Amino acid sequence: MKRLAALLLFLMMTSAAMADPLPMRDAYFHTPNESSERLCDHDFCFWQMNEGETDESLVWEVLTQPITVLKGGQKDQIRVRAKPDAKCEEYVGVVTCDSQGVHVLAQEGDWSLIEAYSSAVEGSPVKVWAEHFQGYVKTELLQEKEVDQEYGIVIDKQQQRLFVYKEGHLFSTLLCSTGFAKKSTPFNETPAGEYIIVSWVGLFPSGDLQCDMGLRINKGIMIHEVPHTLKVNEQTGETKKDYSHCERYLGEKASHGCIRVQKELTPEGVNQTWLWRNLSRKPCTKVIIWDDVGRTLAYPDDDYPLYYNPNKGANYHSSPYCRLVREKFLPLTEFTYGELDEKPFSKLTPCPGCAPMPRREKIDEINEKNNR
Ligand SMILES: [Zn+2]
Ligand SMILES: [Zn+2]
Repeated sequence: MKRLAALLLFLMMTSAAMADPLPMRDAYFHTPNESSERLCDHDFCFWQMNEGETDESLVWEVLTQPITVLKGGQKDQIRVRAKPDAKCEEYVGVVTCDSQGVHVLAQEGDWSLIEAYSSAVEGSPVKVWAEHFQGYVKTELLQEKEVDQEYGIVIDKQQQRLFVYKEGHLFSTLLCSTGFAKKSTPFNETPAGEYIIVSWVGLFPSGDLQCDMGLRINKGIMIHEVPHTLKVNEQTGETKKDYSHCERYLGEKASHGCIRVQKELTPEGVNQTWLWRNLSRKPCTKVIIWDDVGRTLAYPDDDYPLYYNPNKGANYHSSPYCRLVREKFLPLTEFTYGELDEKPFSKLTPCPGCAPMPRREKIDEINEKNNR
Protein backbone atom coordinates (compact mmCIF):
# COMPACT_ATOMS: atom_id res chain seq x y z
CA MET A 1 0.00 0.00 0.00
CA LYS A 2 2.83 2.31 0.93
CA ARG A 3 4.57 1.49 -2.33
CA LEU A 4 1.42 2.20 -4.30
CA ALA A 5 1.08 5.60 -2.61
CA ALA A 6 4.73 6.35 -3.41
CA LEU A 7 4.16 5.35 -7.04
CA LEU A 8 1.09 7.59 -7.30
CA LEU A 9 3.03 10.48 -5.80
CA PHE A 10 5.85 9.85 -8.27
CA LEU A 11 3.42 9.87 -11.21
CA MET A 12 1.74 13.06 -9.97
CA MET A 13 5.06 14.81 -9.52
CA THR A 14 6.48 13.76 -12.87
CA SER A 15 3.34 14.83 -14.72
CA ALA A 16 3.41 18.16 -12.87
CA ALA A 17 7.05 18.59 -13.83
CA MET A 18 6.13 18.13 -17.50
CA ALA A 19 3.20 20.55 -17.37
CA ASP A 20 4.87 23.28 -19.41
CA PRO A 21 5.59 21.74 -22.80
CA LEU A 22 7.83 24.30 -24.50
CA PRO A 23 9.40 26.39 -21.76
CA MET A 24 11.20 28.87 -24.00
CA ARG A 25 8.92 31.33 -25.77
CA ASP A 26 9.55 33.76 -28.58
CA ALA A 27 9.48 37.45 -27.76
CA TYR A 28 7.12 37.85 -30.75
CA PHE A 29 5.97 35.39 -33.38
CA HIS A 30 6.74 34.74 -37.05
CA THR A 31 5.20 32.27 -39.52
CA PRO A 32 7.08 30.64 -42.42
CA ASN A 33 4.78 32.32 -44.98
CA GLU A 34 4.78 35.83 -43.51
CA SER A 35 6.76 37.27 -46.43
CA SER A 36 5.22 35.02 -49.10
CA GLU A 37 3.87 36.67 -52.25
CA ARG A 38 1.13 34.05 -52.62
CA LEU A 39 -0.79 32.45 -49.75
CA CYS A 40 -2.53 29.07 -49.67
CA ASP A 41 -6.22 28.45 -49.06
CA HIS A 42 -5.68 25.69 -46.46
CA ASP A 43 -7.57 25.96 -43.15
CA PHE A 44 -4.31 25.40 -41.26
CA CYS A 45 -0.87 24.15 -42.28
CA PHE A 46 2.83 24.30 -41.34
CA TRP A 47 3.30 27.48 -43.38
CA GLN A 48 0.75 29.44 -41.33
CA MET A 49 1.95 28.20 -37.94
CA ASN A 50 3.90 30.36 -35.49
CA GLU A 51 7.53 29.28 -35.30
CA GLY A 52 7.97 28.16 -31.69
CA GLU A 53 4.23 27.37 -31.33
CA THR A 54 3.46 25.87 -27.91
CA ASP A 55 -0.19 24.88 -28.52
CA GLU A 56 0.06 21.07 -28.65
CA SER A 57 -3.14 20.62 -30.67
CA LEU A 58 -1.93 22.99 -33.44
CA VAL A 59 1.51 21.37 -33.59
CA TRP A 60 -0.06 17.90 -33.65
CA GLU A 61 -2.47 18.85 -36.43
CA VAL A 62 0.49 19.82 -38.64
CA LEU A 63 2.60 16.78 -37.62
CA THR A 64 -0.16 14.37 -38.69
CA GLN A 65 -1.24 16.09 -41.93
CA PRO A 66 -0.19 14.33 -45.17
CA ILE A 67 2.95 15.69 -46.84
CA THR A 68 3.44 16.52 -50.53
CA VAL A 69 6.87 15.56 -51.88
CA LEU A 70 8.47 15.48 -55.34
CA LYS A 71 8.83 12.07 -57.02
CA GLY A 72 12.41 10.81 -57.27
CA GLY A 73 15.20 9.12 -55.31
CA GLN A 74 16.15 10.11 -51.76
CA LYS A 75 19.35 11.77 -52.98
CA ASP A 76 17.86 13.41 -56.10
CA GLN A 77 17.12 17.11 -56.19
CA ILE A 78 14.90 19.25 -58.42
CA ARG A 79 15.74 22.84 -59.36
CA VAL A 80 12.67 25.03 -59.07
CA ARG A 81 12.01 27.58 -61.84
CA ALA A 82 11.01 31.23 -61.52
CA LYS A 83 8.42 30.82 -64.30
CA PRO A 84 6.09 27.98 -65.42
CA ASP A 85 8.14 27.35 -68.53
CA ALA A 86 10.58 24.52 -69.40
CA LYS A 87 12.79 27.05 -71.20
CA CYS A 88 13.10 29.23 -68.08
CA GLU A 89 16.67 28.91 -66.75
CA GLU A 90 16.20 31.17 -63.79
CA TYR A 91 16.14 28.93 -60.71
CA VAL A 92 14.87 30.16 -57.36
CA GLY A 93 15.63 27.18 -55.13
CA VAL A 94 16.32 23.45 -54.84
CA VAL A 95 14.07 20.71 -53.41
CA THR A 96 15.19 17.21 -52.36
CA CYS A 97 12.96 14.46 -53.77
CA ASP A 98 11.03 11.92 -51.71
CA SER A 99 11.59 13.43 -48.24
CA GLN A 100 11.21 17.23 -48.45
CA GLY A 101 7.71 18.63 -48.22
CA VAL A 102 6.57 21.27 -50.72
CA HIS A 103 3.67 23.62 -50.10
CA VAL A 104 1.43 23.67 -53.17
CA LEU A 105 -0.10 27.13 -53.68
CA ALA A 106 -1.66 26.90 -57.14
CA GLN A 107 -1.81 24.76 -60.26
CA GLU A 108 -1.41 26.44 -63.63
CA GLY A 109 -1.77 23.89 -66.42
CA ASP A 110 1.12 21.38 -66.26
CA TRP A 111 2.90 23.51 -63.66
CA SER A 112 2.41 24.02 -59.94
CA LEU A 113 3.47 26.98 -57.84
CA ILE A 114 5.16 25.71 -54.67
CA GLU A 115 7.08 27.09 -51.72
CA ALA A 116 9.82 25.48 -49.62
CA TYR A 117 13.19 26.24 -48.05
CA SER A 118 16.02 25.65 -50.51
CA SER A 119 18.10 22.49 -49.98
CA ALA A 120 20.99 23.54 -52.25
CA VAL A 121 24.20 21.72 -51.26
CA GLU A 122 27.85 22.75 -51.50
CA GLY A 123 28.77 23.27 -55.16
CA SER A 124 25.18 23.63 -56.33
CA PRO A 125 24.73 25.92 -59.36
CA VAL A 126 21.66 27.37 -57.60
CA LYS A 127 23.18 29.49 -54.85
CA VAL A 128 20.15 29.73 -52.60
CA TRP A 129 21.04 28.30 -49.19
CA ALA A 130 18.28 27.34 -46.73
CA GLU A 131 16.19 30.34 -47.79
CA HIS A 132 12.45 30.38 -48.32
CA PHE A 133 11.33 30.68 -51.97
CA GLN A 134 8.30 30.30 -54.25
CA GLY A 135 8.59 28.86 -57.77
CA TYR A 136 7.35 26.33 -60.31
CA VAL A 137 7.71 22.57 -60.77
CA LYS A 138 5.89 20.17 -63.12
CA THR A 139 2.61 19.07 -61.53
CA GLU A 140 3.30 15.44 -62.51
CA LEU A 141 6.19 15.42 -59.97
CA LEU A 142 3.89 16.01 -56.98
CA GLN A 143 3.06 13.08 -54.75
CA GLU A 144 1.04 13.15 -51.51
CA LYS A 145 2.05 10.76 -48.70
CA GLU A 146 0.33 9.83 -45.45
CA VAL A 147 2.49 10.12 -42.31
CA ASP A 148 2.66 8.29 -38.97
CA GLN A 149 -0.17 9.14 -36.54
CA GLU A 150 1.63 8.05 -33.34
CA TYR A 151 4.84 10.13 -33.27
CA GLY A 152 6.04 13.40 -34.80
CA ILE A 153 9.25 15.43 -34.42
CA VAL A 154 9.72 19.21 -34.12
CA ILE A 155 13.19 20.72 -34.41
CA ASP A 156 13.59 24.38 -33.48
CA LYS A 157 16.69 26.03 -34.93
CA GLN A 158 16.29 28.94 -32.51
CA GLN A 159 16.02 26.88 -29.32
CA GLN A 160 18.34 24.13 -30.65
CA ARG A 161 16.00 21.55 -29.21
CA LEU A 162 14.24 18.54 -30.66
CA PHE A 163 10.71 17.87 -29.40
CA VAL A 164 9.15 14.41 -29.61
CA TYR A 165 5.36 14.48 -29.87
CA LYS A 166 3.33 11.38 -29.08
CA GLU A 167 -0.39 11.02 -29.81
CA GLY A 168 -1.17 14.71 -29.59
CA HIS A 169 1.12 15.74 -26.73
CA LEU A 170 4.68 16.82 -26.21
CA PHE A 171 6.37 13.66 -24.93
CA SER A 172 10.02 14.62 -24.50
CA THR A 173 12.51 17.49 -25.08
CA LEU A 174 16.08 16.83 -26.26
CA LEU A 175 19.11 19.01 -26.90
CA CYS A 176 20.37 19.13 -30.47
CA SER A 177 22.83 20.97 -32.75
CA THR A 178 21.80 21.98 -36.27
CA GLY A 179 24.09 23.36 -38.98
CA PHE A 180 26.35 26.29 -38.19
CA ALA A 181 26.95 28.39 -41.31
CA LYS A 182 29.69 30.96 -41.66
CA LYS A 183 29.97 33.51 -44.49
CA SER A 184 32.29 31.12 -46.35
CA THR A 185 30.08 28.05 -45.67
CA PRO A 186 26.44 29.14 -46.22
CA PHE A 187 25.55 25.60 -47.38
CA ASN A 188 26.00 24.35 -43.79
CA GLU A 189 22.77 26.03 -42.68
CA THR A 190 20.07 23.38 -42.04
CA PRO A 191 17.01 24.24 -44.18
CA ALA A 192 13.74 24.63 -42.28
CA GLY A 193 10.45 23.16 -43.52
CA GLU A 194 8.53 19.89 -43.51
CA TYR A 195 10.21 16.50 -44.01
CA ILE A 196 9.70 12.78 -43.52
CA ILE A 197 12.29 10.26 -42.32
CA VAL A 198 12.87 8.08 -45.39
CA SER A 199 15.81 5.88 -44.43
CA TRP A 200 17.53 4.27 -41.44
CA VAL A 201 21.11 4.87 -42.61
CA GLY A 202 23.07 3.93 -39.47
CA LEU A 203 26.72 4.69 -38.70
CA PHE A 204 28.65 6.96 -41.04
CA PRO A 205 31.96 8.84 -40.70
CA SER A 206 32.36 12.60 -41.06
CA GLY A 207 36.07 13.44 -41.08
CA ASP A 208 37.45 12.14 -37.77
CA LEU A 209 33.97 11.92 -36.27
CA GLN A 210 31.68 8.89 -36.15
CA CYS A 211 27.98 9.70 -36.51
CA ASP A 212 25.77 6.84 -35.35
CA MET A 213 22.12 5.93 -36.01
CA GLY A 214 21.64 8.38 -38.87
CA LEU A 215 18.02 8.88 -39.97
CA ARG A 216 17.80 10.50 -43.43
CA ILE A 217 15.46 13.49 -43.78
CA ASN A 218 16.97 15.60 -46.59
CA LYS A 219 19.58 14.10 -48.96
CA GLY A 220 22.80 14.20 -46.85
CA ILE A 221 21.07 15.69 -43.83
CA MET A 222 20.46 13.10 -41.10
CA ILE A 223 19.17 13.14 -37.56
CA HIS A 224 21.95 11.26 -35.77
CA GLU A 225 23.56 10.75 -32.37
CA VAL A 226 26.00 13.43 -31.21
CA PRO A 227 29.28 12.36 -32.91
CA HIS A 228 32.06 10.50 -31.15
CA THR A 229 35.69 9.68 -31.84
CA LEU A 230 37.27 6.32 -31.09
CA LYS A 231 40.05 6.22 -28.52
CA VAL A 232 42.29 3.16 -28.37
CA ASN A 233 43.75 2.03 -25.06
CA GLU A 234 47.29 1.14 -26.08
CA GLN A 235 47.77 -1.41 -23.29
CA THR A 236 44.58 -3.41 -23.73
CA GLY A 237 43.85 -2.58 -27.37
CA GLU A 238 40.24 -1.79 -26.44
CA THR A 239 38.49 1.07 -28.18
CA LYS A 240 36.27 3.52 -26.33
CA LYS A 241 33.83 6.10 -27.67
CA ASP A 242 34.66 9.69 -26.74
CA TYR A 243 31.75 12.15 -27.09
CA SER A 244 33.35 15.06 -25.25
CA HIS A 245 34.29 17.08 -28.33
CA CYS A 246 30.74 17.56 -29.73
CA GLU A 247 28.55 16.97 -26.69
CA ARG A 248 29.42 20.31 -25.08
CA TYR A 249 27.96 22.14 -28.09
CA LEU A 250 24.51 20.53 -27.83
CA GLY A 251 21.96 23.31 -27.45
CA GLU A 252 23.72 25.49 -30.03
CA LYS A 253 24.46 25.37 -33.74
CA ALA A 254 27.55 23.31 -34.47
CA SER A 255 27.16 20.80 -37.33
CA HIS A 256 27.68 20.87 -41.10
CA GLY A 257 23.91 20.61 -41.63
CA CYS A 258 22.91 17.40 -39.86
CA ILE A 259 20.90 17.38 -36.65
CA ARG A 260 23.00 16.01 -33.78
CA VAL A 261 20.92 14.61 -30.92
CA GLN A 262 21.85 13.92 -27.29
CA LYS A 263 22.95 10.41 -26.25
CA GLU A 264 21.91 10.93 -22.61
CA LEU A 265 18.39 9.91 -21.59
CA THR A 266 15.67 12.47 -20.94
CA PRO A 267 13.41 11.91 -17.89
CA GLU A 268 11.05 10.09 -20.30
CA GLY A 269 13.85 7.76 -21.41
CA VAL A 270 14.38 9.27 -24.87
CA ASN A 271 17.69 9.75 -26.71
CA GLN A 272 18.87 9.10 -30.29
CA THR A 273 18.87 5.33 -29.65
CA TRP A 274 15.20 5.62 -28.67
CA LEU A 275 14.38 7.56 -31.88
CA TRP A 276 16.26 4.95 -33.93
CA ARG A 277 14.27 2.10 -32.34
CA ASN A 278 10.80 3.61 -31.95
CA LEU A 279 9.97 5.95 -34.83
CA SER A 280 7.72 4.59 -37.55
CA ARG A 281 9.25 3.47 -40.85
CA LYS A 282 5.92 3.03 -42.59
CA PRO A 283 4.09 5.29 -42.82
CA CYS A 284 7.03 7.67 -42.40
CA THR A 285 7.42 9.95 -39.37
CA LYS A 286 7.02 13.68 -40.09
CA VAL A 287 9.73 16.11 -38.99
CA ILE A 288 9.12 19.86 -39.00
CA ILE A 289 11.98 22.32 -38.64
CA TRP A 290 11.31 25.88 -37.53
CA ASP A 291 13.54 28.59 -38.96
CA ASP A 292 15.32 31.07 -36.72
CA VAL A 293 15.59 34.10 -39.00
CA GLY A 294 14.36 37.25 -37.29
CA ARG A 295 13.39 35.42 -34.11
CA THR A 296 14.27 36.30 -30.54
CA LEU A 297 13.81 34.03 -27.52
CA ALA A 298 12.28 35.60 -24.44
CA TYR A 299 13.65 34.88 -20.95
CA PRO A 300 11.69 32.25 -18.99
CA ASP A 301 9.53 33.46 -16.09
CA ASP A 302 11.33 33.92 -12.76
CA ASP A 303 9.04 31.38 -11.05
CA TYR A 304 9.78 28.60 -13.53
CA PRO A 305 10.80 25.55 -11.43
CA LEU A 306 14.28 24.05 -11.65
CA TYR A 307 15.86 21.30 -9.55
CA TYR A 308 19.25 20.45 -8.06
CA ASN A 309 20.97 17.99 -5.79
CA PRO A 310 22.05 19.87 -2.60
CA ASN A 311 24.48 17.00 -1.94
CA LYS A 312 27.26 18.41 -4.18
CA GLY A 313 25.32 18.13 -7.46
CA ALA A 314 27.03 20.07 -10.25
CA ASN A 315 24.03 20.44 -12.60
CA TYR A 316 20.66 22.10 -12.55
CA HIS A 317 17.72 20.12 -13.98
CA SER A 318 14.26 20.51 -15.52
CA SER A 319 12.87 17.44 -13.74
CA PRO A 320 12.99 16.28 -10.09
CA TYR A 321 13.45 12.74 -11.44
CA CYS A 322 16.33 13.28 -13.88
CA ARG A 323 17.80 9.94 -14.99
CA LEU A 324 21.35 11.24 -14.85
CA VAL A 325 21.21 11.57 -11.06
CA ARG A 326 21.64 8.51 -8.83
CA GLU A 327 18.38 7.24 -7.40
CA LYS A 328 19.30 7.86 -3.75
CA PHE A 329 19.36 11.63 -4.46
CA LEU A 330 15.84 11.68 -5.98
CA PRO A 331 13.58 13.54 -5.96
CA LEU A 332 15.79 16.61 -6.46
CA THR A 333 15.23 19.87 -4.58
CA GLU A 334 13.22 22.61 -6.25
CA PHE A 335 14.32 26.21 -6.72
CA THR A 336 13.31 28.80 -9.33
CA TYR A 337 14.77 30.21 -12.51
CA GLY A 338 14.84 33.65 -10.87
CA GLU A 339 17.29 32.31 -8.24
CA LEU A 340 19.68 30.80 -10.79
CA ASP A 341 22.22 33.62 -10.52
CA GLU A 342 22.21 33.52 -6.70
CA LYS A 343 24.26 31.31 -4.36
CA PRO A 344 24.40 28.29 -4.26
CA PHE A 345 22.88 28.00 -7.76
CA SER A 346 25.17 30.40 -9.64
CA LYS A 347 27.84 27.73 -10.26
CA LEU A 348 25.47 24.98 -11.47
CA THR A 349 25.72 23.90 -15.10
CA PRO A 350 22.73 22.81 -17.25
CA CYS A 351 22.14 19.04 -17.24
CA PRO A 352 22.89 17.28 -20.57
CA GLY A 353 19.99 14.86 -20.02
CA CYS A 354 16.84 16.76 -19.09
CA ALA A 355 17.47 19.91 -21.19
CA PRO A 356 16.73 22.63 -18.64
CA MET A 357 16.37 26.20 -19.89
CA PRO A 358 19.65 27.99 -20.47
CA ARG A 359 20.82 30.87 -18.28
CA ARG A 360 19.88 34.40 -19.37
CA GLU A 361 23.39 35.15 -20.68
CA LYS A 362 23.25 31.95 -22.73
CA ILE A 363 19.87 32.98 -24.20
CA ASP A 364 21.45 36.30 -25.22
CA GLU A 365 24.27 34.34 -26.88
CA ILE A 366 21.79 32.04 -28.69
CA ASN A 367 19.80 35.03 -29.97
CA GLU A 368 23.01 36.63 -31.22
CA LYS A 369 24.49 33.48 -32.81
CA ASN A 370 21.33 32.24 -34.48
CA ASN A 371 20.37 35.43 -36.26
CA ARG A 372 22.28 35.30 -39.49
ZN1 LIG B 1 -1.12 25.87 -46.63
ZN1 LIG C 1 18.93 16.43 -15.56
